[in-house]
Amino acid sequence: MNTPNTKTSKVPCPNCGTELIWDKQNSFRPFCSANCKNNDLVAWANEEHAIPGEPMEDVFSDDLERGI
Ligand SMILES: [Zn+2]
Repeated sequence: MNTPNTKTSKVPCPNCGTELIWDKQNSFRPFCSANCKNNDLVAWANEEHAIPGEPMEDVFSDDLERGI
């Protein structure tokens, strides 16, 4: 089903349930924020590899700049 590109739709953040506007420029989607995106990846990473709590912000800011 095609959706008009001018329409905005809201989706719940998988991490915290907050509704967010689905936007192509939202690099966090489907999460509401960098925090939720980080939390999800950290949880995933901890489960997979049990890595120490390394800050991932550098990786994400780099990703944001290329994400558009
Ligand atoms: Zn969230």
